[in-house]
Amino acid sequence: QPVLGILGGGQLARMLALAAAPLGVKTLVVDSAPDACAGQVAPLRLADWTDYAALEKFAAEVDVVTFDFENVPAETAHWLAERVAVFPDPRALAVAQDRLAEKTLFRECGLQTPAFEAVDTRADLDRALAVIGAPAILKTRRLGYDGKGQFRIKQLSDADAAWAALGAQASAHGLILEAFVPFDRELSVLAVRARDGDFRIWPLTQNWHTDGVLSFSLAPALDVGGLQPRAEELARILAERLGYVGVFALELFVKDGQLLGNEMAPRVHNSGHWTIEGAVASQFENHVRAVLGLPLGDTAVRGFSAMFNWIGELPDAISVLNTVDAHWHDYGKQPRPGRKVGHATVCAKEARDLALRIDEIARALKREEQVAPALKVLG
Ligand code: ATP
Ligand code: MG
Ligand code: MG
Repeated sequence: QPVLGILGGGQLARMLALAAAPLGVKTLVVDSAPDACAGQVAPLRLADWTDYAALEKFAAEVDVVTFDFENVPAETAHWLAERVAVFPDPRALAVAQDRLAEKTLFRECGLQTPAFEAVDTRADLDRALAVIGAPAILKTRRLGYDGKGQFRIKQLSDADAAWAALGAQASAHGLILEAFVPFDRELSVLAVRARDGDFRIWPLTQNWHTDGVLSFSLAPALDVGGLQPRAEELARILAERLGYVGVFALELFVKDGQLLGNEMAPRVHNSGHWTIEGAVASQFENHVRAVLGLPLGDTAVRGFSAMFNWIGELPDAISVLNTVDAHWHDYGKQPRPGRKVGHATVCAKEARDLALRIDEIARALKREEQVAPALKVLG
């Protein structure tokens, strides 16, 4: 029985383990956090990501290593890759860990991005603002997630406040200033590439964020027209360029019918959770298949799906469980403000029925605000 090692023990590891089990694949998770929610699947505790004594044991017990957590230090990933097969390649991880390298690569692959400038010093910030103008967003190049490590610059006079918020991180992680894009909508493309080069994407997903955190997703995104083949082409170019193996997500802005690349996640992604119930093969199943060298599953959808993210704490499950074709996912995490603690997916054959089911759940949970933009799209 093959053993898949997973670096990081969050909900992504848990859902990967759940998808691996019926394939006859065992999973071994490592994490340094005492409250890793994949605890149900026998985690190995690391003191930290440079705990090579524990990592040595881990490497000896697994056949393939993959990631739940994209900020595993590149040196740790490289060290493991010298001992055991690691997918995706640590090279892809390194690019995705650095917003500057990532956006540079996007452009090289033909994917436009918001205007951006590297910022390492206070003087760089002024110079970058002079080029990009306001509004803009100052972000840490590394380690940001869920909108953390970002400062929105509404006008040029916010520069001091932005530097006060993030300047201390400039020397360790570097910063990047990006033009603020008044996008028409946000989409993501979930893609998978196998060890033999087979490449597939799921239909585009439309996403809504609140305070920089994903709040709601709808799939397939409606009225995408030529954006679907364009996204597929760009994702394929990127995957081939990186020799990528496994699932990845590209977060995209749509502005005036054009795709702009925001960032890439070198792993399964929150905006693809709907694929568990809404697609023939889920992102988790296909990631396991890809990294183990198995044939990929079908990425076709079964109908329409929507996902509610539960941030901070879980609402009452009963109204979701009472709704037809709705599915509850409790990550088993301690509630904490801003923390992703679970999600719910609701599916339907017809878009009209999906809208009714979304509305039913939202009313019962008093979440009308969370779903309003999606219901508008669904008509
Ligand atoms: P994630 O949890 O997706 O990794 P993150 O912390 O890496 O999030 P981003 O994806 O960079 O953050 O930004 C979070 C959200 O903020 C985006 O999905 C988008 O809604 C908004 N945002 C980020 N950059 C821009 C931009 N340049 N213009 C407009 N909106 C932006
Ligand atoms: Mg990110
Ligand atoms: Mg993002």
